[in-house]
Amino acid sequence: MSSTALTVEFLHFANSSHGPGPDKWADDYPVANGPRQSPINIVPKEALYDSALKPLKLKYDASNAKGILNNGHSFQVDFVDDIDSSTLTGGPISGTYRLRQFHFHWGASNDRGSEHTVNGIKFPCELHLVHWNTKYPSFGEAASQPDGLAVVGVFLKIGAANPRLQKVLDALDAIRTKGKQTTFPNFDAKTLLPTSLDYWTYDGSLTTPPLLESVTWIVLKEPISVSPAQMDKFRSLLFTGEGDAPCCMVDNYRPPQPLKGRLVRASFK
Ligand SMILES: [Zn+2]
Repeated sequence: MSSTALTVEFLHFANSSHGPGPDKWADDYPVANGPRQSPINIVPKEALYDSALKPLKLKYDASNAKGILNNGHSFQVDFVDDIDSSTLTGGPISGTYRLRQFHFHWGASNDRGSEHTVNGIKFPCELHLVHWNTKYPSFGEAASQPDGLAVVGVFLKIGAANPRLQKVLDALDAIRTKGKQTTFPNFDAKTLLPTSLDYWTYDGSLTTPPLLESVTWIVLKEPISVSPAQMDKFRSLLFTGEGDAPCCMVDNYRPPQPLKGRLVRASFK
C-alpha cells in the first residue's frame, strides 16, 4: 500500500526479533482496542440471515494486474485502479469499489494461518482482496473512512493442488526478500474465488497497522483448495531483506478480536 495519504508502517509478526507482534500493536495504535477490530471468530449459528443482502458482483479485468511485491509482512499483487475497470458492487455495500490489491496470511504449519476463524477453526491460509470506495478520491483517503474499504476474505483449505493459485506462487521466487517486486501482468483475480459466493459480512478494520476501522468485511463461506506443497511455497518467502539474517515469512496473521456486540450477517440460510 504505497498511497501517500496512508503511511503504513507494517511491523513484523510474532517473532520479537523483528519488531513487536500483534499483542504489542496497541502501544502505537490505540485503535487496536477499538469497537470494530478485525479479524473475528465467526460463529455461523449466531450470524443473522439477511434476505436484503445482494449477491456479490465482481467484475475484474485481467489486464489490470500490475505487479507483485514482498512488502515485508506478506506479498501483494497490485492492480491499476485509476478507472472503474476492476470493481466490486452489490453484496452489503453501496456504490462502486475498485480492486486495489490482494494478499494472503498464513501459518508456519497447516494447523493455523487464517485471520478469521469459523467456530474457532483455523484454516492454513486466508486470501484478502482489497477494494476501495470510489465515492472517495483515492485509496489513501478511503482507508480512513468508515465505509472506505471492502475486503473479500477467502479461506484456503488443504486438498488438491490449486492450478489458479500456482500462477501466483510461481512468481514468489523473484520476490523472496522484503522490498523486492516484479511485474505480474494479465491475471484474473476472479479465478481464485470458489464456486459459491455465499458470504458472512460485518463491520471491521484493517488487520495490520494502522488497524483503521474502515473495512466492510465479506468473508466467503466456501474455501478454495491448496496443496501442502503449495503451502510450503508461501513459507519460502522471507520477512527480511536481502543481506539480513533470513527469517521465514510465516504466522503473519492477527488472531481474532473481541466482537463487542457487532452483528455478523449471512447472505445464505
Ligand atoms: Zn489481509
